[in-house]
Amino acid sequence: MSSEYKPPVCSSCGRPILVDEACVKFPCPNCGQIILWRCEKCKKLTRPYKCPNCDFIGP
Ligand SMILES: [Zn+2]
Ligand SMILES: [Zn+2]
Repeated sequence: MSSEYKPPVCSSCGRPILVDEACVKFPCPNCGQIILWRCEKCKKLTRPYKCPNCDFIGP
């Protein structure tokens, strides 16, 4: 049995997101196929993110 936890990765900076971080997750507004994550920092700085599925770039 594997209990390994894979942390989500921030779609803006590529950093793994910590469990207790004030991150946001939302489906890609363009394709809806991918859950995009943004870490606390990128949310604050409103950095652009890129969907790995459809290459949509958005704020
Ligand atoms: Zn980030
Ligand atoms: Zn997409």
